[in-house]
Amino acid sequence: MNETTHSDIKDLLPAYALGSLDAAETARVAAHVEACPACREELAAYEVVTDMLATAVPLASPPPALRTRLMSRTQTAVAPQPTRRQSIKEHLRRWWHPPYWRPALALVVLALAVTTLVIWQQNRPVTPSQFTLTATEHAPEATGVITIAADGTATLSIANLPPLTAEQQYQLWLIRDGQRDSGAVFSVNADGSAQVTIQAARPFTSYQAFGITIEPAGGSPGPTGDRVLGFNL
Ligand SMILES: [Zn+2]
Repeated sequence: MNETTHSDIKDLLPAYALGSLDAAETARVAAHVEACPACREELAAYEVVTDMLATAVPLASPPPALRTRLMSRTQTAVAPQPTRRQSIKEHLRRWWHPPYWRPALALVVLALAVTTLVIWQQNRPVTPSQFTLTATEHAPEATGVITIAADGTATLSIANLPPLTAEQQYQLWLIRDGQRDSGAVFSVNADGSAQVTIQAARPFTSYQAFGITIEPAGGSPGPTGDRVLGFNL
């Protein structure tokens, strides 16, 4: 292999892939590529990029000079027009071609992208990040809102819950697959209001429903009293 020719041709490969060489140069490059595996490999890489450009920007108007070149290349190289199936096969053939690290890398990148998307979907903050609880007949005037801050902190804001005796408190339940975790045990102010930070045993987004019941002071392991507010997703 003539080294001067090789490095000379190597420089021409991008232009060759774009079809922008004159006839004499095109013939020279084609002849060398035929005999040189290194140049063939590099050319294949350029052709992948060229194909991606050609399919990625069909709506853009190329500069007139480039347009003329592409048109003449298209007319000489691709007549008759391949069917869609053939051109897909051609693309696959060019991709699935030694060296296999290129298609392998593309698959790895795709797999990573999908994994990232799935993880992001699972962990993104719930929307809406506010849940308005509904009053029951045991406290028809009551209102309650659970707000989840960007850092995941959940707060319960209560108004108009009837004050209880010293032996009773309200308890918030976080419900998931029929199981109830205690989220807070609280009393209300004289005006029936309360502002409570929720202690969730699990990520807040894993709960499907919330309820507030009247319980003995200090709270219960599970709900025993009347439900005054609730929310179902
Ligand atoms: Zn070469």
